[in-house]
Amino acid sequence: MTTAPSDADARRAVAPVICYPNSSLPKPDMALFQRVLGAATVVDTRFAAPRDACTFEVPAGGFFRITSVEGPQVGDLNLWNAHDLTERFYSGKTRALHGTHVTTGERLWSSFPHLRPLATIVQDSLEWYGIDEFGGSVHDVIGTRCDPYTGNLLAGSQYHHCCHSNLTRALAAHLGVSAQEAESHVHDVLNVFMCTGFTRDTGQYFMKSSPVRPDDSLTFFAEVPILGALSACPGGDCSSEHSSDEAACYPLKVEVLVAEAGNLQGWSSPPKNGYDQSHGL
Ligand SMILES: [Zn+2]
Repeated sequence: MTTAPSDADARRAVAPVICYPNSSLPKPDMALFQRVLGAATVVDTRFAAPRDACTFEVPAGGFFRITSVEGPQVGDLNLWNAHDLTERFYSGKTRALHGTHVTTGERLWSSFPHLRPLATIVQDSLEWYGIDEFGGSVHDVIGTRCDPYTGNLLAGSQYHHCCHSNLTRALAAHLGVSAQEAESHVHDVLNVFMCTGFTRDTGQYFMKSSPVRPDDSLTFFAEVPILGALSACPGGDCSSEHSSDEAACYPLKVEVLVAEAGNLQGWSSPPKNGYDQSHGL
């Protein structure tokens, strides 16, 4: 242990500043999205089976809705630009811009050099949850995705139904490529319905039983053409453990919704980020 300096309390008492004040972010037209969603119809329905994943495609200007159907279940979501898989969801930057958990009106941002919204959350039936007394909240961008490598590192296991592998298999089947090729596209997720936080005493990532119940849903507006993959996490509601077949696990439903052409007048897909990429050279 180090010895605290005489002004330790004063140093600790300095007020924090927000790293990325987000008031200057472009504002989504939520009223327009809500209005168009009200007139949209379901054009495709997929199910992520327990401990497995499904893929889905959404045209720019469409919506997708993830719904709990049979029991409390957490989902791990990956998103790509359907026309360019190198542009994909950037969990870390989304966290830096919006915070550890996301809800209605917040956006899922894409990787460099694009850094634009891939999707905007337009409806969240768990928005009421807020932040609980443990510092926990729902739909996090702090976890990565459960994976067989960490399980092997910690416990020497060979488990094949972590979200990382589920997403890999689903993407491989969708693209018609090998597991190894698909795996290179899998990235850190949005943990849909997952309730998580950091312990105040040790700063460790924690999870707790998700408050999600059947019929709860999270709905997104697709800002670009989207290829998505959703895994029904082997952790189930994540109340005890993941990376095994121990937890009760349920399917998740994904619906793709599209409105009539013309309803989105005034909206256009966000452009790629404006930085010139010269990097001072
Ligand atoms: Zn998982």
